[in-house]
Amino acid sequence: MERTKCSRRDFLKLTGTSAAAGLCSALLPQDRAAAAADGLQKVPTRPFGKSGLEVSILSLGGMFDIAGNQLMLKQAARWGVTYWDTADCYRYGIGSEQGIGKFFKRYPSTRQQVFLVTKSDNRDPQGMSKLLDRSLDRLQTDYIDLYFVHGVRSLKELDDETRLWAEERKAEGKIRLFGFSTHSNMEECLLGAAKLGWIDGIMMTYNYRLMHTDRMRRAVDACVAAGIGLTAMKTQGGGSVKTDSETEMKLAGRFVQRGFTDAQAKLKAVWENPQIASICSQMPNMSILMSNIAAALDLKSLSSSDLRLLQDNAVETASSYCTGCVDVCEAAVDSVVPIGDVMRALMYCRSYGDREQAKETFARIPAQVCRQIAQTDFSAAERRCPQKMAIGRLMREALDEFA
Ligand code: SF4
Repeated sequence: MERTKCSRRDFLKLTGTSAAAGLCSALLPQDRAAAAADGLQKVPTRPFGKSGLEVSILSLGGMFDIAGNQLMLKQAARWGVTYWDTADCYRYGIGSEQGIGKFFKRYPSTRQQVFLVTKSDNRDPQGMSKLLDRSLDRLQTDYIDLYFVHGVRSLKELDDETRLWAEERKAEGKIRLFGFSTHSNMEECLLGAAKLGWIDGIMMTYNYRLMHTDRMRRAVDACVAAGIGLTAMKTQGGGSVKTDSETEMKLAGRFVQRGFTDAQAKLKAVWENPQIASICSQMPNMSILMSNIAAALDLKSLSSSDLRLLQDNAVETASSYCTGCVDVCEAAVDSVVPIGDVMRALMYCRSYGDREQAKETFARIPAQVCRQIAQTDFSAAERRCPQKMAIGRLMREALDEFA
């Protein structure tokens, strides 16, 4: 998941032009959304794989204090953003699952409208059963629409026991669909899942940087052919290094002229692919929610030059963005360093501006592994990295910032 936002920096980019005052309406997509609300316009839906279910093309990511922001859920439902995503480990406020549970308790009829996803950090069947029951209790519901194993890096993490577990929970009516989320080795995970025959849905990192590679195209095609519903996350393509490139300036100006922000354009780029059922986006406040809803309701397509600009930006800022191919770099270092996890912590901090989430992600790395980071030579990993990232420097920066 990710956050789309019109940041202060975006605003400054715009106000750097003399036309800024005239363009301000483009910064207020919520106005367009508010107008559309009167006509009860809803976010469109798409089929979710071969499940026979339709889901809203925009999904509400649950990494925020939901219990303290119940109005967000109400507004999301009102606009048809009825695909809600959470996880047992999202500890925002009293807990993300508990926040949704509080809402369902107060508005029980909403439960039927919502396609509800939660995730298990556990892998063994017993642990998953325990976490699923706890999630059901916290969410104040007796079923989950789609249950994910969280953060899969390799399909070796899922075996016949996992399949049996999923089948049994479906038979009990506790889950309707089963799958996994992945932000590491996504293409391999997707290709493997397409061959299994018992994966209903996958949420994976997918954005304008990744979606045009041959590997990703093949992986998505295979899943669609296998009837697997796909949800894109981290669609803003924010990286571990904060960038301020020429093409970013061009992007911001160009899209404002077209009537949307560059953040909205990045969502649109993903929606242009009908193989993607939904985008899961972190929308922790009303302004981001309404901006994303406005993008989902806007029927304007991106032009070929819009898409080219996005691709130019992807090329120009490649060394700031980790594509999650952790098998490439982690195998090249002598010690066991979770390079992808460290890159993600940096991304949360530098692209999302979420230092708390960054520190929480980094804190999951054992202290002994952190000590190894300082002593590890990352030069072989850097030579293999397709994005030419300064892995060693970034690992040490993360140590300084989060350890
Ligand atoms: S090889 Fe580079 S892009 Fe791939 S996971 Fe490692 S650091 Fe990220």
